[in-house]
Amino acid sequence: MADPKGFMTTPRQEWARRPVEERVRDWDEVYVPGALLPIISKQADRCMDCGVPFCHDACPLGNLIPEWNDLVSREDWKAASERLHATNNFPEFTGRLCPAPCEAGCVLAINQPAVTIKNVECAIADRAWEEGFTPARPPERLSGRTVAVVGSGPTGLAAAQQLTRAGHTVAVFEKDDRIGGLMRYGIPEFKMEKRHLERRIAQMLAEGTKFRASTAVGRDISAADLRARYDAVVLATGATAWRELPAPGRELHGIHQAMVYLPLSNRVCEGDLEVSPLSAAGKHVVIVGGGDTGADCLGTAVRQGAASVTQLDIYAQPGAERDEDVEPWPTYPKVYRLSAAHEEARDLRTAPAADADARLFAASTLRFTGDAEGHVRELHLVEVDARREPVPGTDRVLPADLVLLALGFNGPDQEDGLVDQLGLVLQPRGTIARDDGFATNVPGVFAAGDAARGQSLIVWAIAEGRAVAAAVDRYLMGTSQLPAPVAPGDRPMRV
Ligand SMILES: Cc1cc2nc3c(=O)[nH]c(=O)nc-3n(C[C@H](O)[C@H](O)[C@H](O)COP(=O)(O)OP(=O)(O)OC[C@H]3O[C@@H](n4cnc5c(N)ncnc54)[C@H](O)[C@@H]3O)c2cc1C
Ligand code: SF4
Repeated sequence: MADPKGFMTTPRQEWARRPVEERVRDWDEVYVPGALLPIISKQADRCMDCGVPFCHDACPLGNLIPEWNDLVSREDWKAASERLHATNNFPEFTGRLCPAPCEAGCVLAINQPAVTIKNVECAIADRAWEEGFTPARPPERLSGRTVAVVGSGPTGLAAAQQLTRAGHTVAVFEKDDRIGGLMRYGIPEFKMEKRHLERRIAQMLAEGTKFRASTAVGRDISAADLRARYDAVVLATGATAWRELPAPGRELHGIHQAMVYLPLSNRVCEGDLEVSPLSAAGKHVVIVGGGDTGADCLGTAVRQGAASVTQLDIYAQPGAERDEDVEPWPTYPKVYRLSAAHEEARDLRTAPAADADARLFAASTLRFTGDAEGHVRELHLVEVDARREPVPGTDRVLPADLVLLALGFNGPDQEDGLVDQLGLVLQPRGTIARDDGFATNVPGVFAAGDAARGQSLIVWAIAEGRAVAAAVDRYLMGTSQLPAPVAPGDRPMRV
């Protein structure tokens, strides 16, 4: 570190977001362009080089955080980029989208605000692209082995890049018309502009990875064909089978799954549609579900010009500080967090029925009621206690012309027939079963990412993609030099 006292002299400063009034009028990323670079070296200098970096363990990728903090504080961007890319294929994705468990594990965070690790990561990644530090790295020689990767989310992309660079001939099959998985049609543009995705896809094409979009394995090409044509198969099909809400009135028009609503909005940003056929414009919107997906619906509905937007969370409002008895440092605590979408909802007062930031906590949906045309008009809810029992006398009714269900996901979507055709063994929760080496019960077929782990995060997806690539490389060649940052049984740091 350039300044050993940096953590005492420099306060934490995050990448500034654009003013709410300005950013809700467009779909660009919420951050002030160019505002990160001028502050980031001083921020990296806050790293204490503590000696036992828990941040490094808290990051599923094992990112070499203190090393690149030091290099950024010395403005050695090229070396910082090399160290960052040594463990992370796509740091510009995680630098924007990761909830940063590393920061919860930062030693400085024991009694001070953590180092802005995620921002440092993003600055290195963006600078690396600007300066040309991330050229395509095609393999020096080919192995003669072929691999099919099914699914082009962060798991499939990371696996494909690792295996291509190791010399295998890799084709990525994707049933959507564009590559990217949930980063393409789930996550909105204002959280990550798709140009970052396009740039990586171009890099991967230049390295030799082949992409087969609009091809559902199981439907457009049979699983048996795939196995016959490739030496190994990686299933990275995600966990997109959504949870339902079996409440009376669910059949009314105007009640949709979040992952029906969000892709349409993303298609408007891609230029495929003029306006979304499910636009929230002028409507009273209620989002059922308090997670990331719900927050993405919130930001989208605000930008579409909803009359009001309220988000229901079944859990009680978490506290502002971590509960040291339940979730001590360095674990990732459940605390009250204000995402960019919640900040917008708060400032614009989108939810007259909610206290502050559009969220109603400890709220459980009882039923929906509609009009004579069978369209939803009201959502009836009740407050629940910690055992999810209704609190008497707390029933409420919210106006609701558009209801978005964001209740999480169960496991891989089985509609394409891939699971049946391969005869895959599933876990009780619906995810694909695999052994300690990412191998399914079908010889030569491996599974990784949300499809096998269950609904998770991009950082875990990239880590799984890297690790399954090492397993496949070993299967094909008998040995592998590729890194494996996680094992199938690894879980986030807990007490
Ligand atoms: C709305 C939303 C917002 C999120 N926001 C964040 C966030 O901010 N930060 C974060 O860390 N995580 C976030 N997540 C979670 C994160 O996106 C996932 O954990 C991650 O994308 C999982 O990666 P994956 O590659 O395993 O699967 P996916 O990204 O789901 O990709 C799987 C791909 O496989 C394809 N596929 C499936 N079956 C077939 C088949 N038979 N043939 C061909 N292709 C097939 C699918 O079309 C899909 O493109 C969010 C999730 C959602 C839904
Ligand atoms: S990938 Fe996530 S956990 Fe890892 S260093 Fe980046 S922000 Fe932190």
